[in-house]
Amino acid sequence: MFTLAIVGRPNVGKSTLFNRLVGKRLALVDDQPGVTRDLREGDARLGDLKFTVIDTAGLENETDDSLPARMRRLTERAVEMADICLFLVDARAGILPDDRVFADILRRKNAHVILAANKAEGNAADAGVYEAYELGLGEPVRLSAEHGEGMADLLQVLMPIA
Ligand code: GDP
Ligand code: MG
Repeated sequence: MFTLAIVGRPNVGKSTLFNRLVGKRLALVDDQPGVTRDLREGDARLGDLKFTVIDTAGLENETDDSLPARMRRLTERAVEMADICLFLVDARAGILPDDRVFADILRRKNAHVILAANKAEGNAADAGVYEAYELGLGEPVRLSAEHGEGMADLLQVLMPIA
């Protein structure tokens, strides 16, 4: 059993992926006291693999163009709680300055990082997937959390860690 934190800037699809990994088991999590809105924890299943997954959120709807400090603090906390971080970027939007902020947090924390380019369904995402290499965190796993694509590839990457 290991703990995986899904991190990344708002709107990249963290919660969509969390929900896909946790599915109906989220109901149990919501019953637990002390579960905050900003750091959700759930029992994930991917193939035969079972693990704990953490979703981060924090003032995601703030219209300010710079990343709220709260979001950074929550990410740092999630990184400390986790064995592995799944760093999501949005392949459709490409790499934005806020993505680099998260990459720096992960590097500074010496986190074990798996990079994933989400929203990668269709070839409109190809340029963004390629751009993700620029982050210097290795080859991105191509995912579509919404459509359930790339989940087998994610499993492949997680297997050796489990
Ligand atoms: P979060 O802020 O990182 O938790 O992102 P959400 O999970 O709330 O998703 C933000 C938006 O991206 C929502 O409108 C989702 O429906 C959309 N989204 C999530 N995953 C995908 C995907 O794989 N493909 C596409 N096209 N949209 C996605
Ligand atoms: Mg979210």
